[in-house]
Amino acid sequence: MAITKYTCLVCGYVYDSVHGDPDQGIAPGTLFDDLPEDWTCPKCGAPLMDFTEVVRNTSEVIIEEEPVKDEPTKVIKKKKVELPKKNEE
Ligand SMILES: [Zn+2]
Repeated sequence: MAITKYTCLVCGYVYDSVHGDPDQGIAPGTLFDDLPEDWTCPKCGAPLMDFTEVVRNTSEVIIEEEPVKDEPTKVIKKKKVELPKKNEE
């Protein structure tokens, strides 16, 4: 069973299909795709469209690059990787 998590881009709340959202009548095990269209973020009230899928393999958003061997004093650059936005298809 695939575990799907979606995060609110507004407040960072994570919807976990395993837990659902009992406070709003969403039973545990309800996939994000099966949420009613009027479901909103329990924390900030953002609509479904403000959520983006959290993909397990790319959950790490900050990638630290190894310093170049020839330049040991080089400052490590932090690269920010944007989570893929779920476009309406
Ligand atoms: Zn939110």
